[in-house]
Amino acid sequence: MSSRFSDLVEEARLSLQALADYGDQFFHPAVRLGVTGLSRSGKTVFITALVHAMLRGGRLPVFEAASGRIAKARLSPQPDDAVPRFAYEDHIRTLVEARQWPHSTTDISELRLVIDYQRASGADRSLTLDIVDYPGEWLLDLPLLHKSYEEWSAESLMLSRKAPRAELAAPWHGLLATLDPLAAADEQAARASAKLFTDYLRACRDERFAMSMLPPGRFLMPGSLAGSPALTFAPLELSGAGDAPAGSLWEMMRRRFEAYKDVVVRPFFRDHFARLDRQIVLVDALAAFNAGPEALADLQAALAGILDCFRVGRGTFFSALLRPRIDRILFAATKADHLHHASHDPLEAILRRMVEGAAKRAEFAGAAVDVAALAAVRATREARVRRGGDDLPSIIGTPAAGESAHGEFFDGETDVATFPGDLPMAPDSLFDPAAPAQAQFRGLSHGAAGDADFRFLRFRPPRAPAAGIDAPLPHIRLDRALQFLIGDRLR
Ligand code: GDP
Repeated sequence: MSSRFSDLVEEARLSLQALADYGDQFFHPAVRLGVTGLSRSGKTVFITALVHAMLRGGRLPVFEAASGRIAKARLSPQPDDAVPRFAYEDHIRTLVEARQWPHSTTDISELRLVIDYQRASGADRSLTLDIVDYPGEWLLDLPLLHKSYEEWSAESLMLSRKAPRAELAAPWHGLLATLDPLAAADEQAARASAKLFTDYLRACRDERFAMSMLPPGRFLMPGSLAGSPALTFAPLELSGAGDAPAGSLWEMMRRRFEAYKDVVVRPFFRDHFARLDRQIVLVDALAAFNAGPEALADLQAALAGILDCFRVGRGTFFSALLRPRIDRILFAATKADHLHHASHDPLEAILRRMVEGAAKRAEFAGAAVDVAALAAVRATREARVRRGGDDLPSIIGTPAAGESAHGEFFDGETDVATFPGDLPMAPDSLFDPAAPAQAQFRGLSHGAAGDADFRFLRFRPPRAPAAGIDAPLPHIRLDRALQFLIGDRLR
């Protein structure tokens, strides 16, 4: 099928679906909320905490409807039979009873929450909230839809020659230099280069480098497609002249790249992304600060790429009929409980700076964009600790059992106070590779104040409250996120 024709078929399917959804919306008000973010950004913890707060009446002062107008929230069977259900019950038990963090997102899942509430006018109503959890890596694949194999190859190669990627890409570059794109297609060559290319992507994701721009997303999260031809390709060094000869390695790689779009990217766009109304993008900004300015620049590029996805369909990819419906996007820096509250506003300012340019483009396309610093589950409390004559704003939590980056041993039970470091009020220094480390971010320095250690302690979830699993969990600014995402739909 030509790509133009398949786009038309896609459009027709999508508009039928949009019409059906619209009719249904009239009788049963509903919001489809997408929750995404790169691996380990905090999606599973966020959804678990959100659902728990709604079911158990968490403390949510900024979420207007929660102050008296929500009668009851309940779980209900989800509408999509082919999508796994988000394992809320397992996750909350793991969090509260085992005091462990739940297993992270590796695939799409969904959960339906029905909220019975009283309208501001007094009438009783229900809002159906469908929460769709999916890996942010899938979102970063959407720009591939507009790219040819040759364009993607050139871009990926260019990126892989920059620091700190170049060093990590050396083994793959070594193999690449021996491959002739014009030579006959060779399965072993394709497999070997796909493997080394994937190893390079995986190394970039490592917490020391914390790179974010790593498409194709399924290379790191293959699921059931592991080993299939649609995942067995890699960029090639192409001279730019001419076209791929029939039967060449180049042609084979190009066919597989197109297959990846057909089998992975288009179905995700059609079945999931195009049906969302609201979106929260979770960002582990602290991990990027810890890895340094290159990681931050990379994260910034990834966030811009993500924001541009929300414009897909607005005159570019599909016709105006099929605009993705998303009209609100929240970028949230997670795990803010790793910082003292004095750093929460600076954290938001940094995130705002990172999405500024791209946010303007999204706003222009009709979506409101906001940022927040939050902790879906607050694992720490605050204290002032005197050290060497200084009175330091510190946080206290229970580090997970094991050895820290400092070589200290934690038993997993004893609380430890740490000075988390301050975020600079002026975010610019964080983005400047030439700025001294102290001006960038004094990471969680467990020990002497200010000794720049760019490793975080991993805290265990908070101790279970006396009321057990039914009690609300502590959080930071979860209510603000809820107010932005669904507050207007509960009026
Ligand atoms: P996912 O891959 O996006 O689903 O990420 P998870 O929700 O599984 O979170 C990854 C890890 O980040 C967890 O195992 C926790 O260690 C940590 N984390 C996530 N949310 C929070 C939070 O609100 N507070 C703290 N302290 N840690 C968090």
